[in-house]
Amino acid sequence: MIEIRGLCKRYGDFTALHRVDLTVAKGEFVVILGASGAGKSTLLRCINHLAEPSEGEIHVDGERSRGDRAGLRKVRRDVAMIFQHYNVVPRLSVLKNVLTGRLGSMPALLSWFQVFPAKDIAIARECLRRVELDPKADLRTDTLSGGQKQRVGIARALAQKPKVILADEPVASLDPKTSRKVLNYLKQASRQDGITVICNLHQVDYAREFAQRVIGVAAGRIVFEGRPDELTDEV
Ligand code: ADP
Ligand code: ADP
Repeated sequence: MIEIRGLCKRYGDFTALHRVDLTVAKGEFVVILGASGAGKSTLLRCINHLAEPSEGEIHVDGERSRGDRAGLRKVRRDVAMIFQHYNVVPRLSVLKNVLTGRLGSMPALLSWFQVFPAKDIAIARECLRRVELDPKADLRTDTLSGGQKQRVGIARALAQKPKVILADEPVASLDPKTSRKVLNYLKQASRQDGITVICNLHQVDYAREFAQRVIGVAAGRIVFEGRPDELTDEV
């Protein structure tokens, strides 16, 4: 589903990624594990061109992803992203936030004035049920707790019906109980829907508990690749 070859990313003189190669199968749940500053976020951002690769090739579902207008539209439709700080629109209702997942590459703020087809509303409600937030559908999103906002982020990603979900430190701001809940929803997305999930984490414990495969990253290079039970505490 994802094939990365020789990916380099430089910011000025600083090289954040050094010739990274990585292949991820359809429906796999892969955890990218590494300390802060290792390059995890840059790696995910290159996949959907939030950051433009300096060198190398990225293929999504057999097609080379590109940073031009048409390429961006395609990759943003196929690939959903979840962020550490939720990136929900605070003043919009929970349901409308999830509905923005149906808008493709349109800026989220436009959705304020947007009238949505009944089919999209049904999809959004179903996705809210998946993360057990359907009773909160009509509340303003800024009344929710952090964990609930992240579940809105997951529902929005699911509503997009993506092939791939990229989750960049989705639980870094959450307590352990809420973190496990969020990671379970992501795991379900890979198991039940066959969505390919790549999730950045910095905690070895969660990687052991949830990953199907772990990629260890340090200083812009892949330094470990294996099953979670092969992880030692030094990784
Ligand atoms: P991680 O997600 O593992 O914490 P990042 O990918 O965010 O790591 O960052 C990797 C390195 O690249 C860090 O040293 C960071 O300071 C640097 N970096 C990230 N984004 C930028 C940027 N936009 N400009 C300059 N340096 C950056
Ligand atoms: P969870 O752990 O499930 O993410 P919490 O236990 O933190 O949720 O939140 C409990 C309740 O408090 C929730 O119903 C949430 O809507 C409400 N809540 C949390 N933060 C706020 C807030 N800033 N304003 C209003 N209600 C809030």
